[in-house]
Amino acid sequence: MNGLLRILIVDDDDLVRRTLAKALERFGAAVTPAASAAEALRHIATAALPFTVIFCDLHMPDRDGVQLLRDLAAQEIGASIVLLSGMGRDIIAAAENTARHHGLNVLGHLTKPFDRDKIAALVLAAAAAKPRAAPEPAAAPLDVKDIVRGIAGGEFGVVFQPKVRPADGVIDGVESLARWAHPIHGTVSPGLFIPLAEDAGIIDALTEAIVLRAFADIARLRQGGLSLAVSVNLSTLSMTRLNLPDDLHAAALANNVDPSSVTLEVTESRIAERMVDFLEISTRLRMKGFKLSIDDFGTGFSTLEQIARLPISEIKMDRSLVAGTPANSRTSEILRASLEMGRKLGLNCVCEGVETKAEWSLVRDFGTDSVQGYFVARPMTADALVVWVRSRRTRAAS
Ligand code: C2E
Ligand code: CA
Ligand code: CA
Repeated sequence: MNGLLRILIVDDDDLVRRTLAKALERFGAAVTPAASAAEALRHIATAALPFTVIFCDLHMPDRDGVQLLRDLAAQEIGASIVLLSGMGRDIIAAAENTARHHGLNVLGHLTKPFDRDKIAALVLAAAAAKPRAAPEPAAAPLDVKDIVRGIAGGEFGVVFQPKVRPADGVIDGVESLARWAHPIHGTVSPGLFIPLAEDAGIIDALTEAIVLRAFADIARLRQGGLSLAVSVNLSTLSMTRLNLPDDLHAAALANNVDPSSVTLEVTESRIAERMVDFLEISTRLRMKGFKLSIDDFGTGFSTLEQIARLPISEIKMDRSLVAGTPANSRTSEILRASLEMGRKLGLNCVCEGVETKAEWSLVRDFGTDSVQGYFVARPMTADALVVWVRSRRTRAAS
């Protein structure tokens, strides 16, 4: 479904644009940022395909959001609207009403600082909304029945993204990322189907299907002579299911995968809500030999002290701490301090979302153990991974 949701973010605050873009990209959206109403209108006029959703800040210095809404209505754009604001609810409600009076399709609003669950709900609403001016015939929106059908039909698989140690260039593992080979929508990103499966209470069945595929791929690669440690993403919801450790252990053994070569990644943001369950299940996972990683570190509110009480072996610094971060900025200081703390706690530190040479150099100089991101390689199929590893080793040898 990549590209199906084409989102324009209009906000004069650079940090807001970046944070929101990051959150939306997780749902497989193609995001275009605009720093002003004028820039937004330029993008709308020149985009090859119309935007499906426009996230519009109400308060901007040149032409404010309410004026921009009037411009959008005048152009009869088909995009749905989400309003962004740090202002009071009454002002937002008034702006929403204004937009509706203009005939715009308002999906809702986000108040700053943004809430992830609210973003997820809006994206789902956007995916289900039929854009008025969409050029493509609207396919049926994804739903739970479709996921169940997809699981039964073996449509869920994984791609792998390598992690590399900047110190010596050695590949120290791959992360498995779920993909849905959908018969109508093509490749669908996990950001779109994981929240659906979570909401519908079928995440465990989906996780099982995905993990089994990942383990089977890893086993096949090993038979072909490529032994790699693998990281697998788990929904935070699964970390409350008491038989998870046993099920994962059985899945690993069934595929001849050594649990000590498997790292389970869990997102930071929701750990604190269920600390007791999390502690118990993570302890049992460690006892079965799995490693645990805290994903998206820096996006939630946990501190390293809280996290250090968990039996984890790795932290992954979120892309928002890395992307476009200039040296000596506040964000770079947070990143540097987090890496330093992680190291002192004896944790493997990974920086993800590294896209440029400058970001690579920054995180290497800050002492990260491992780097993941488009600068190293994009996620790829198991077969492509074999070719990638070979060509990299050949280059290193020559
Ligand atoms: P994540 O675990 O943080 O995975 C990293 C995401 O960033 C992946 O998106 C990856 O393709 C993307 N990425 C990697 N390098 C770069 C880069 O340099 N720049 C940018 N902009 N992006 C980069 P993907 O595959 O769409 O996955 C999105 C999220 O969906 C994942 O975020 C993870 O939270 C979740 N997810 C993926 N697979 C699974 C799964 O099997 N189970 C569960 N529960 N969640 C999954
Ligand atoms: Ca991850
Ligand atoms: Ca992550």
